[in-house]
Formats: sequence, structure tokens, C-alpha cells
Amino acid sequence: MAILVVGGAGYIGSHAARALRRSGYEVVIYDNLSTGFRRLTRGFELVEGDIADESRLRPVLARVDAVMHFAAHAYVGESVENPRKYFRNNVLGALSLLNSVLDAGIRRFVFSSSCAVYGIPEQIPITEQARREPVNPYGASKLFFENALAAYGRAYGMRSVSLRYFNAAGADESGEIGEIHEPETHLIPLALAASTGNGPELEIYGCDYPTRDGTCVRDYIHVSDLADAHVRALQYLEEDGIEGGGSLAINLGTGRGHSVLEIVRAAENATGRRVGRKVGPRRPGDPPILVADPAKAQSVLGWTARRNLDDIVSSAWAWMRKNLDQRMTA
Ligand code: UDP
Repeated sequence: MAILVVGGAGYIGSHAARALRRSGYEVVIYDNLSTGFRRLTRGFELVEGDIADESRLRPVLARVDAVMHFAAHAYVGESVENPRKYFRNNVLGALSLLNSVLDAGIRRFVFSSSCAVYGIPEQIPITEQARREPVNPYGASKLFFENALAAYGRAYGMRSVSLRYFNAAGADESGEIGEIHEPETHLIPLALAASTGNGPELEIYGCDYPTRDGTCVRDYIHVSDLADAHVRALQYLEEDGIEGGGSLAINLGTGRGHSVLEIVRAAENATGRRVGRKVGPRRPGDPPILVADPAKAQSVLGWTARRNLDDIVSSAWAWMRKNLDQRMTA
């Protein structure tokens, strides 16, 4: 069974590619390397191409049985400033990919969606039935594609699982791959970098939220747990889940929330050094609390997160240290 991992040179896609291979699947990575990194695909077949390039995709799709789609722009702030870029890739490009998949006769599709589809939730923890009202173009683009999958399920028999990630973090235990974003905007790598003295001071975006310590609470989920969930989603489709066509959306989170200050403390525990920080203004569009209800992932996929916050931060730290060492010896 061969799987096309579209966007497999990115952070989450590269972890999913490894999880698939460990479970015995043949993996082909397809990526245009616009935000991905060739080094994250080492040891895999990489086909360079854009998701909207139908002629490039056609021969690759002819060799695979299912598709996982990770190739999206994923900066919320940038999506507000440059929605055109987000809708072009995450909607137009993604639809073109979906049509190519359909035309190739493939009917199994796993999509990396996001808790950004919920916008500002009314209730915590968030279940899949919660109202979906994204508050930025990034979330809107993810919701659009989920809706397209649902429609293609009803009309054409496409079978898909959309996995709504909460806050992905951490790195593969092998130390071979981990989080790289340029620029880096995510809390855990920034907190770790701040503690080494190599990065700038961490700016905490607001300390006047209605939470236990005034800082935002998020549900951080280890990227290897996310990757395992993708394998389970694929197995679910293989075992004739939603037979005949249909779509499912499933939250991937731990069900536990951690505040920004708790992350700062976890980073200090991992590095043994203080995280230099200052409190700044709130970041526009940040809801106070986002925590998943992960019950559906357990009941449908038999999946729960196995790794905790310490595992997340210590693996992220191991990966960062390795990169710092490599840079110093380069
Ligand atoms: N955050 C912060 N300082 C930073 C980056 C993030 O205080 O430099 C906060 C942010 O407000 C949010 C949490 O950390 O509450 C996680 O943000 P991140 O950008 O990592 O992920 P997001 O929730 O935006 O997907």
C-alpha cells in the first residue's frame, strides 16, 4: 500500500511520513519546497512539484493508493495580512489537488485541518459539533476544504478524514527531524531559544486573559502522537470506515490545557536555564483558551495522546540542541 504525503517536507508531514513507514507503508513525498525542507525528506522519495500542477501529479498519483495532504500555508497573522496567498494555495491549490486525486480514481484522503475552524469557542473543551466560525483567513481556508471533502464524499464517493490539530509541538524521538519554521513564531521553540541566549527574549502575548494565571491556555500535542493518528485515520479508511463515501472530522488534542507561563516553566526545566521574557500586548485573534475534547479520536480511531508536556518540551529541546551543535560545527 503506497501513500502520497503531500507537504511531506514540512514539520508535521515529515513526521507522518516516518510514522507511515514504521507501520509498513510505502511513502512518496510530494512538496514544492516553498516552506518545506529537503533535509526533512532524507531517506524518502521526494517528488518536487506544486499541488496545483496537475500534469506533475498525474504520474505520481497513478502509483499510490491514498493521499495525505499537509501542504498549506499556516501562519494565522500572515493570512490576515495576505489572504490572497492563503486562499490561492489552501483553497484553489488544494481543490486542484483534490480534483487530481479524484481523477486518478483514489478515494482515500486524510487532511490536516485545524482547531482554527472553530474560531472563538463558546465551550471548553471543544467537541467536533461546536460551531465553526473561523476568525481569520487561515481557519476559513481549512473549513472550506473540509466542506469540499464532505461534498465530494456525498457526490463522488470520496472517503476522507479531516484531523483538526490543536497545538502541534515537539520532535521525533530519533532526533532526525523536528520543528523548523522560517520565521519561527511558535511558543515552545521561541521559549527554548530565549533560554539559550541565542534567541531574542520571549514576548508573552498578554497576561490579562480570564485564565488561571492571566496567559493564554492551549492544548499542546506531540507531533509524533499526531503522526500516529494519521496512520490510524488511514487504517480506518482501509477498514471500510465511512463505506461508500463520506467525510469525518476529528479533533487531535490531549484534552489538557497549559498556559503560556506553564510552558515557560517547562522550557526552564528542560534547559536548566531561565527563559528571558517580557510581557507584551495581546496578539490579535488569540482566544483565551483552546482545549480539545479528544473523545471522538478515541472512539473512532482508538487513538489517544501518549506523550505529555515534558515529552514535548524535552524532545523539542533535544532537536534544538542538535541543530545548535550542527551549526557550531558546520
Ligand atoms: N505566544 C506568546 N509569545 C510568542 C508566541 C506565542 O505568548 O512569542 C502565545 C500565543 O499567544 C498563544 C500560545 O503562545 O497563546 C501558542 O501560540 P503559537 O503561536 O505557538 O500557536 P497558535 O496557538 O497560534 O497556533
